[in-house]
Amino acid sequence: MARLVVASRNEHKIKEIQAILAGQPWQVLTAHDFPGFPEVIEDGLTLEDNAIKKAKEIAAFTGCLALADDTGLEVDALGGRPGVYSARFAGPDATYGDNNRKLLRLLEGIPLEGRTARFRCVIAVAEPDGNVHLVEGKCEGLIGFELRGEGGFGYDPLFIVDGLGKTFAELSPEEKNRVSHRGRALRLAAELLKELAPLTPGSGV
Ligand code: IMP
Repeated sequence: MARLVVASRNEHKIKEIQAILAGQPWQVLTAHDFPGFPEVIEDGLTLEDNAIKKAKEIAAFTGCLALADDTGLEVDALGGRPGVYSARFAGPDATYGDNNRKLLRLLEGIPLEGRTARFRCVIAVAEPDGNVHLVEGKCEGLIGFELRGEGGFGYDPLFIVDGLGKTFAELSPEEKNRVSHRGRALRLAAELLKELAPLTPGSGV
């Protein structure tokens, strides 16, 4: 089976990625499988920069194909913020709760129709020789007025998915993967991976 390393320590993301690649001929490996797995600093100015940096460093370290995602929430009323700074929106050590509270505060007084937003997920797949491929997935929605739902992570309880009227946190993992930015990007990545696996030394094929 071909080996694919996911360049993330976020257990929620790893679960989503494993679920979408299930049934594909991939042995999905993570930081737990490689002692000394590096912590890659996300200091890029764009989602693309960060995804490429993470995927390249992990492919070089492991000698396997590596997949990295970088995701941002783009809120139109905030000029596209928090975008690439979504994780650190409320400060360097911000929790998901801190970020959600800041978002609600900045949108106070804005009616639902002015709260349009999207998640954008960029996935980079890097080969050990440094060659990188990019795919992108988006999901459009609205920022709600209060947290709703128990599932998911991050901004999920505030993000009301267009056409469903539910937040990501109110969906089952399968429902979220079907429509989410990461689900869409991962399905494109899976197509790409089918072409890359047999060519990649260290992929175990
Ligand atoms: P990252 O840099 O790709 O890990 O994502 C930055 C931040 O975006 C995370 O800390 C989360 O707050 C948020 N985020 C990423 N993906 C999702 C998602 O699927 N749902 C909700 N929030 C997310």
